[in-house]
Amino acid sequence: MTHFDMLIRGGTIVDGSGSARFQGDVGITDGVITAIGPSVDGEADEVMDATGLIVAPGVLDLHTHYDAQVHWDPYCTGQSWNGVTSVVIGNCGFGYAPAHPESREQLMLMMGTAEQVPVSAQREIFKHWDWETFPEWMDHLRSIPKGINLLSYLPVNALLIYVMGEDSRHRAATAEEMRVMKQLLNEAMDAGAVGMSFSHLSDMNAAKEGDGSPFPADIHPAEDLYELAGVLRDRGQGFIEAFTNAPGVDFREVAEGVARASGRPVIHNLAGPWPSAPDHHGDILAWMTRCAEEGLQIYSQPMEPYWLEFSLEYFNSWERLPFFVEFVHASVEEKIRFASDPQFIEDAKRAYNPLILGGAGGPWETYVLITAHGATEYEKYEGTSLGEITEAEGRHMLDVLFDILAKSRMQAEWKSFPAISDAATYAEVIRHPHMLVGGSDGGAHLTFMGGSWSTQFISWLVRDEGLLTLEELHHRMSGYQAEVIGLDRRGLLRQGYAADLMVYDYDTIGGPDKTLVIRDVPGDGGAFRRATPAEGIRWVIVNGKVIHENGKSTGVTPGRMLSVLGPETDARLREAV
Ligand SMILES: [Zn+2]
Repeated sequence: MTHFDMLIRGGTIVDGSGSARFQGDVGITDGVITAIGPSVDGEADEVMDATGLIVAPGVLDLHTHYDAQVHWDPYCTGQSWNGVTSVVIGNCGFGYAPAHPESREQLMLMMGTAEQVPVSAQREIFKHWDWETFPEWMDHLRSIPKGINLLSYLPVNALLIYVMGEDSRHRAATAEEMRVMKQLLNEAMDAGAVGMSFSHLSDMNAAKEGDGSPFPADIHPAEDLYELAGVLRDRGQGFIEAFTNAPGVDFREVAEGVARASGRPVIHNLAGPWPSAPDHHGDILAWMTRCAEEGLQIYSQPMEPYWLEFSLEYFNSWERLPFFVEFVHASVEEKIRFASDPQFIEDAKRAYNPLILGGAGGPWETYVLITAHGATEYEKYEGTSLGEITEAEGRHMLDVLFDILAKSRMQAEWKSFPAISDAATYAEVIRHPHMLVGGSDGGAHLTFMGGSWSTQFISWLVRDEGLLTLEELHHRMSGYQAEVIGLDRRGLLRQGYAADLMVYDYDTIGGPDKTLVIRDVPGDGGAFRRATPAEGIRWVIVNGKVIHENGKSTGVTPGRMLSVLGPETDARLREAV
């Protein structure tokens, strides 16, 4: 009789290919699905009864910033609580390699301002920083415990600083610098990088360096990015993330440029849908379709339907408007001074642009006051939006906002819904062949983000609204994305595929409408993070091992580094460490 490590019996299998569900069993040995069908004969070390449950592939999340968090939270929560079993890190051009010793602090500060990962936490976890090159960083990642699988881009900001230093902000690369950068990209790909990532938003990126200057890749000549992208054309491997677009900010020709130069898939950010910019996603979908007619492979990602919870002591997305950069970077005391200064408020009224901020935390009118925190005269408005408070008060929105900020000494808590369009719009966007649905931004913006898009899509768009089938959604959350990026033998429940699965109760899957505040962030800065647990998920399984059972972590860390070079090469790279 065949012996398996694990046998999942009697579940309803949705295999991630889009084909119809069926009742059946899944047999797993050595982290791989070795048998799947209506009835699998055999015995196993571990037999799991999945009667009445959905058995589906683990979810792939292509846009995260867990580069730091995985060092203190190997499970990359909350995403893995919600069925995510593989994530891509190194997004948006940010990361920790390659790095000269004297640039380490700068790279950590960038991750601090751009992605809001507390610098004190980074300094703590990277006390023993012992890598310089990207291959050395990949070996480091291979050596640490991981609850889920990681894939990583080579971040272009790190590359530019490594080779060109500050000059990368002011001029194009010389022929020699370009030769070196191409060689480093090639070496990174050999070491398992999945491609390269950058933002190119000029001075309109929602985040900036501590001194207010744009990140190198935001302002570096685009022709150099095209030439670098040519490396992937020569290899016929890999893909690119190009953050070039948001409502009111449009450098999509750069995404087109790298798609043309590389001939590889380009993941353009971001498509929305944003309720505050209702025409944006339609425009992006039409553009990608036109690009496809020209033979370019451009994909985009939806903003996951998330909410934010924050105090403006920490929140940084106002930086998309240059006027507010100084405010965002100020100390709490200085912020209180700004908020009490009539001249600042008058200038702010002129600078405020709800369209541009719609994609960066939402127009301020939509902020809901959760707790007034000492701004006692506003306590009666807790639970209502700033727009409604303004109307009730008969004053200008910014007079009200800054009054609350000053009186609460910046501590007032807000909730905003920048990216929750109606369900029909979401379903239409997700269904588009050029949309890749997984993009939580997990591991970034620790104090105000932490949603649970995968379970939300299942419970909201499939079960409650009936706008997508479960087969369709699981295809888009795993199999389709794996196919687009060239991730070999992952993303489907098939014989010979890696055993990454989520097993859940369709009737109860979902999540609370409030994030958990988790105080596990290292360092002495008193930092915290937010994450959303899932309800209704029985098991999350990575490489054949259960990492969460009924929402509780098991302590095992079966996650691996994955590349686009195939499982055999990944195994060889792993063994070489
Ligand atoms: Zn990002």
